[in-house]
Amino acid sequence: MNKIILNKVELEANKIKYIYNIEGEWKQYFNKYSEYSMEYTENIDNIPKSIASIPFITNILPMVWIFDAELILKELDKEFYESIDKFKNGYIKMYPMITFNGKITCNKIIDNSYIPSNKVAAFYSGGLDATSTLVTHYNEKPMLINLQGSDLDLRYKKVLEDVRKFLKNNADNLDLDIVFIKSEFRNLINEKRINKYIKPIVKDNYWHGFQHGIAIIGHAAPLSYKYKMKSVYIASSFTKADDVHCASDPTIDNFVKLSSTTVIHDGFEFNRNDKSENIGNFVKETNKKIKLRVCLNDYEVNNCCNCEKCYRTIFGFASKGYNPQIVGFDLNDEFYKKVEKDFKYKIIIQFIPYWKNIQNEFMKHQEMKNDERFKWIYNFNFDNCNKSPLKYILKIYNAMLKRIKKFIRIITRKGM
Ligand SMILES: [Zn+2]
Repeated sequence: MNKIILNKVELEANKIKYIYNIEGEWKQYFNKYSEYSMEYTENIDNIPKSIASIPFITNILPMVWIFDAELILKELDKEFYESIDKFKNGYIKMYPMITFNGKITCNKIIDNSYIPSNKVAAFYSGGLDATSTLVTHYNEKPMLINLQGSDLDLRYKKVLEDVRKFLKNNADNLDLDIVFIKSEFRNLINEKRINKYIKPIVKDNYWHGFQHGIAIIGHAAPLSYKYKMKSVYIASSFTKADDVHCASDPTIDNFVKLSSTTVIHDGFEFNRNDKSENIGNFVKETNKKIKLRVCLNDYEVNNCCNCEKCYRTIFGFASKGYNPQIVGFDLNDEFYKKVEKDFKYKIIIQFIPYWKNIQNEFMKHQEMKNDERFKWIYNFNFDNCNKSPLKYILKIYNAMLKRIKKFIRIITRKGM
C-alpha cells in the first residue's frame, strides 16, 4: 500500500525540517524521499509540532488522495484536521473524473484553539492579484508573506535576493511588515512524472491543478499561530466568470483552517481590470509608492515591458485612465508604437478574455480613441489574433529559445 510516514518534525530557531519516508508504488512520483526543510525570516521555534506539521500535510494531501495512500504522523492540530474533509470536498467537486481516497492516521489530535487577535496576513508576490488584495485590506495592516521556492527555484539565489529587496522596498514604502519563507516544498514531487500521469485525465498540470493553493497556504500556519491571527488572505488569480479550474479556488481555500485562523480566497469577485482600478485608486488616494512585478520572465527582477503579461498589465491600467507609471512602468512613445506591431506579428495571447475585457474598458472611454498610443486597440480583432502562420512559427521558435535560455542559465549558473 502507498504510505508516507512523517517520522519527525524538527524546529530550530527559524527553521522547520521534516523527516519522513515513502513506501509503495507511488514513490516513483517523488523526488525527495526522506527530508526537506523551510526557513522563515523570523523565529518560529516556539510553535507546537502539531502546527508545524501543517505545511507538510497541505503539500502532500492531494497526492495522498489521488494515490489512495495512508499519511501517518504523530500529532496534528484539531481545527486543521477537522477542516480537511471540507476542503477535500472542493477537490471532489472540481474533478469528478477522479476518485479522492486516502486516509490519515494520527496518534494525537491536539486542540490548539485560541481567540483570534486583529492581526491578519496576506500572501504577497508583488503581482497584480496580490497587490490588489494588499490594498483592499491595507487598513488592517496585513503582515505580508512571500514564499520563495514557489515560482522561482531556490537555486537562483541572486534573483531571489533581488526579488526580496524589491518586495521589502514595497513593504517599507507601505509601512508593512514582510516575512520571507524559503521552502523546498516544490522539490518533493517529481512534477514531470506526475504531469504525465495526471494531464491526460484533467487537462492540467499537477502544480496548477492540485498543489499550489493549499501547499502555499499551509506555509502561513507557523505565523498565524504565533500571532493568533484572525485571517490569512490569498489572492485570487481568476474570477467566477473565467470558469477556469485551478487548485487555488474559493471552494477549497476558504475551507482551510489553520488552527483558529481562517483562510480567505480574496478578490474572486474582481477581474484584472477591477484590480487595476483598485490599485490605481489606492495610489491616487494615499500617494504611496507601489511597484508591480508581473512579468512572464520570472528570472528577472524588473518587468521586461516586452511580454504579453507586461503589456496586459500596462494596458489594464491605461484602460482605466491611469498612467502605468504609478505602478512602476516607465514608458515612452516608442514603446507604444512597438506594442501594436507586436500584437500583429509576434505576441501570442494565452487567455484572450483578459484582452477583450481591456478592449471593452477602452470602449467606455471614447476620449482615448484619438490617442496615438491606444487607438489601434479599439478595432483590433482579438479573437483571430493568434491565427497568423507567422505567429505559429514564432511560437515554435520561442519555445526553443526558452529551452536554450534555461540550459544557458543552468550551465552558466546565471542568477544562482
Ligand atoms: Zn514582461
